[in-house]
Amino acid sequence: MRFYRPLGQISAITFDLDDTLYDNRLVIQRTEQEALAFVQRYHPALSNLENTEFHRLRQSLRETEPDIYHDVTEWRRRAVERAMLDAGLTAEEAAAGANAAMVNFAKWRSRIDVPEETHDTLRKLGKKWPLVAITNGNAQPELFGLGDYFEFVLRAGPDGRSKPFSDMYHLAAERLGVAIGDILHVGDDLTTDVAGAVRCGMQACWIKPEGADLLQASDSRLLPHVEISRLASLTTLI
Ligand SMILES: [Mg+2]
Repeated sequence: MRFYRPLGQISAITFDLDDTLYDNRLVIQRTEQEALAFVQRYHPALSNLENTEFHRLRQSLRETEPDIYHDVTEWRRRAVERAMLDAGLTAEEAAAGANAAMVNFAKWRSRIDVPEETHDTLRKLGKKWPLVAITNGNAQPELFGLGDYFEFVLRAGPDGRSKPFSDMYHLAAERLGVAIGDILHVGDDLTTDVAGAVRCGMQACWIKPEGADLLQASDSRLLPHVEISRLASLTTLI
């Protein structure tokens, strides 16, 4: 554990999910493949849909609705619906198809292998502090065994704009009933997690991705309070 700023009082801990509590890379890769295969199989008119076309649809949605990126689930659902409409399905068929695609997406998205170290660490920290999850993504901790550790989960879209915007950080403090400065936020991203949290007055812990170096990173605008390489290091704060 490396300290860059003095840590103050800690009354609660908030966590990013993806690549902070588990390795998200392979899961998301497999999920993307399965999601595309599902849409291709859904209707003969979609059998030739390619990932590049799907990404183009996502980008064009973002151009017409610049705020849609805050809610990655809704953004994806709308892109699938658009692809289905473009392939000639009726509005009703496309809406039903997009919903089915999202159910399939959530199923694959949840096949996450959470390391035992994460369970151990959250269990220990949870005895001392209330824990909260704050995510920009679409992972649902209750679907892969992490739901019980958290007082609540905040997700970008339904709970505000995505990090680094401060909406969810403030909402966490408000719901927990603690001063925002007494919260430690833990995350792997120097912009969304570290800079976002520090800028709104929280304390921040950066969980360093393998091989990363704070002083070399191009996105290190604000120093975290602490840096760790393994989640279990947090138990030394108890
Ligand atoms: Mg992350």
